[in-house]
Amino acid sequence: MATSKRVVFGAVIGLLLSLFSGVRAADRNSDATQSSTEIKLVYLGNAGWQISDSRTVVLVDPFLSQFSLSREPTGNDTATPDTVAIDRRIPAADYIFITHGHLDHMLDAPYIALKTGATVIGLETVANIARAYGVSDTKLITVRGGEDYEFGRFSLRVIPSLHSALREKRWFNSLDATATAPRDLKAPLKVSAFVAGGSLVYLLRMAGHQILIMGSMNYIEREMEGLRPDIALVGANRQRREIYDYAGRLMRALGLPPTVLPTHWDAYGRSAQQKSAREAVEEFVNEVKAASSHTNVIVPRHFEPIMIK
Ligand SMILES: [Zn+2]
Repeated sequence: MATSKRVVFGAVIGLLLSLFSGVRAADRNSDATQSSTEIKLVYLGNAGWQISDSRTVVLVDPFLSQFSLSREPTGNDTATPDTVAIDRRIPAADYIFITHGHLDHMLDAPYIALKTGATVIGLETVANIARAYGVSDTKLITVRGGEDYEFGRFSLRVIPSLHSALREKRWFNSLDATATAPRDLKAPLKVSAFVAGGSLVYLLRMAGHQILIMGSMNYIEREMEGLRPDIALVGANRQRREIYDYAGRLMRALGLPPTVLPTHWDAYGRSAQQKSAREAVEEFVNEVKAASSHTNVIVPRHFEPIMIK
């Protein structure tokens, strides 16, 4: 190739690259129905979050009850939410997003929905568990993954996903991985009734932000490709180690998001394990930074608001 042609060729490639990166930057903001305003995120423990702008309060997988559990519940125990802890922390909510039906994601949602009038969004298993506690169909939105719903103050893309690869990847060998809670359940429920029924990720677009919400340590890479959240809540406990290049593939699929908040890493809030849990999550922070050096990783503290403009 002659020198002048090489220069032209290089200029064209440069232009294409700058257009491409321009498109990607625009993508990240294209769903700002209004210019981005401050959003508040509060870590509620386990995979639980409160996300709010000035008018709308969204909860994700609220599990305040974890802080009063003296031991890990067994399947035969009666599932009992800690209503005192919930009342102390959750005065109001408009929507509750649930990633899957397990107890540590779903136990508190029916009580909160009944008390606040919030609408619960989740898989069929989630809807059936909520019905068992008397949550009415008008307060339930059953989703399957693939929906992209408009709510006025926000929009919500529901993303098919995978649960953490528990039991050394034998997760789908078990009934609580593949079953959906039946429709005719009546509370009180046993812990074993809280079957996963699948697993979802959400992309919440609110106040000019796009927030990716995970509740497990796994994902489907092709479902993440092309999403451009500015904030990503990423499952971070050691179950991620079952997954090939967990942080690297995710960060690249998401276009290297500016902010990552680790979730589901706090050893169920047990006070004796907080120091070791915080040390362990630093390894995840390093994995994210290795894949995406400009990403700001914020390890949240329970109930301390994180404000993002
Ligand atoms: Zn689970």
